[in-house]
Amino acid sequence: MRRPFIAGNWKMNTTEAEAGALASAVAEATDGAACDIAVCPPFPHLAAVREAVRGSAVAIGAQNVSWEPAGAFTGEVSLGMLEPYCRYVIVGHSERRALFGDTDEWVNRKTAAVLASRLDPIVAVGETLAEREAGEMGSVLDRQIRRGLADLDLSARVTVAYEPVWAIGTGETATPEMAQEACALIRALLRELAGDTADAIRIQYGGSVNPGNATELLAQPDIDGALVGGASLKADQFAAIVAAAG
Ligand code: PEP
Repeated sequence: MRRPFIAGNWKMNTTEAEAGALASAVAEATDGAACDIAVCPPFPHLAAVREAVRGSAVAIGAQNVSWEPAGAFTGEVSLGMLEPYCRYVIVGHSERRALFGDTDEWVNRKTAAVLASRLDPIVAVGETLAEREAGEMGSVLDRQIRRGLADLDLSARVTVAYEPVWAIGTGETATPEMAQEACALIRALLRELAGDTADAIRIQYGGSVNPGNATELLAQPDIDGALVGGASLKADQFAAIVAAAG
């Protein structure tokens, strides 16, 4: 009942020309796919990517957003600025949390602002290697979900991305069993916060997903899609992951 959702996070990669070409290639290679698809380019390339995916089933996501609507917030981008281009926005990616100071409270404010807009949030959570080794995976996810999604009107518009930090960009993937265990835990937390709506909220796995491991990961009962970094920069690899989803 949950339609699979594959999103590509391009991070701070591509020139404008490369972004347009990559988006065109993704649109062509994923034509007819039976799942929801999004690419998340850098802000300056949104217009080029919008042109490239026009008429296709590929939606656009942003990688971050401000909760403020306008004003003296140097370097920030508002939801109103994104709305003409985007359907989704990633909130709380581990790189934002680790490198740019995004806290659970900021994730909560941003997600609330996204839900008040026309965009849908992809809220990223996940434990570091030190936290996993200390046996804290469950308590970290509990904190990130409870604080990040506190007091929100949770609905199927929300996607949660489980991304163990130790698996992001490292080539090291959680086993399907590890990923399923964490995603089931997230589903149980969502059930506490949102009741039966938890069954409609999609949970993606992210962390070195590639065409070789996607099928097994996506076959897990609580994994409804993938947030893909490195492999989303290659249209054929991203399309193979999309194909594995549907
Ligand atoms: C990500 O950045 O969200 C990610 C999962 O990256 P990678 O697929 O490269 O590990």
